[in-house]
Amino acid sequence: MRQRYMGERGCCYCQEVFQPSKFQPLQAVCSGSECQRKRRADYHRNKIVDDPEYREVCRDSSRKWRAANPGYWKQYREKHPACTEQNRQQQKARDQKQRLCQLANNTSALDLKHSVAQVWLVGPGAAHLANNNSARAQVWVIEALSARPVSSP
Ligand SMILES: [Zn+2]
Repeated sequence: MRQRYMGERGCCYCQEVFQPSKFQPLQAVCSGSECQRKRRADYHRNKIVDDPEYREVCRDSSRKWRAANPGYWKQYREKHPACTEQNRQQQKARDQKQRLCQLANNTSALDLKHSVAQVWLVGPGAAHLANNNSARAQVWVIEALSARPVSSP
């Protein structure tokens, strides 16, 4: 990495060194189009979680858009089967993660968060749940593998 001049910093997406705009002294992302696209997407993603009004406006505008473009997504899925399959897999992973979260928060049968048990969450998406326990004994919450069709010989 070359020497940094005053005010220069690394872009939080591509790590390239850039000079922030004098109008945006806190600028953390370079002006590269891919990094700016990521910045906008992240902003939108966080804002939708944090700001109910923004969420409602987005929901309303996509509702209007769908009403004006009926059949768009059906056609899109027909034209882009690979993307559709990838989205399906990603949605499956998100659903699985959510199920794990619900499992970790399930306090009706056994208070996992407050018991003296150590909770081990095993499976994809379980890593971020690691902070949810403080423990001595061990309870293993093991995610079942999905049933695979048995191929006949
Ligand atoms: Zn960048």
